[in-house]
Amino acid sequence: MDCIFCKIVSGEIPSSKIYEDEKVLAFLDINPANKGHCIVIPKEHYENIFDISDDALKEIIAAVKKTASAVNKAANCDGINILQNNNKAAGQLVSHIHFHIIPRFENDEVNFSYKPGKYLEGEINEMREKILVNITGN
Ligand code: AMP
Ligand code: ZN
Repeated sequence: MDCIFCKIVSGEIPSSKIYEDEKVLAFLDINPANKGHCIVIPKEHYENIFDISDDALKEIIAAVKKTASAVNKAANCDGINILQNNNKAAGQLVSHIHFHIIPRFENDEVNFSYKPGKYLEGEINEMREKILVNITGN
C-alpha cells in the first residue's frame, strides 16, 4: 500500500521517533505548527476514526497521553492541542489515522479558529434526534 506512515513504520522512510511499542509509533512532524509538534499513529493501517477498532484506539490514546506529557515538558509550552482529522474536508492529508500533538505558546501564530454558528429555533433538537438514532451501544 502506498502509505507514507506505513513506510515510516516499516523504516522505508526515516522519521524522528520518540516513542514506540508493539502497536504504536510516535515521531516528530516534519512541518511543525510549532517546534515539538508530534504525530502518534497505530503501526497497523487504519484510515480514520470510523474504521479503527476500539482496542487499537485505546492503545493509541494512551500513547498520545504519554507523548503529550513529554512534549509539554520538553517544549516548555503553555498548552497543547491534540488534533485528529478525518477525511479530506477536515484537513486529513495522510490517510493513516494519526493524532497531532501541538505545543502552544501564549500569543503564538497557530490558528484553528472558526466563527461560532447559531441554530435556528428547533434545529438543535432536530440534530440531536438525528444523532441519537445513529448512536450505537457497546
Ligand atoms: P493531516 O493533515 O492531519 O493528514 O496531517 C499530516 C501530517 O503529517 C502533516 O502535519 C505533515 O507535516 C506530516 N507528515 C507528512 N509526512 C511526514 C513525514 N515523512 N514525517 C513526519 N511528518 C510527516
Ligand atoms: Zn498506512
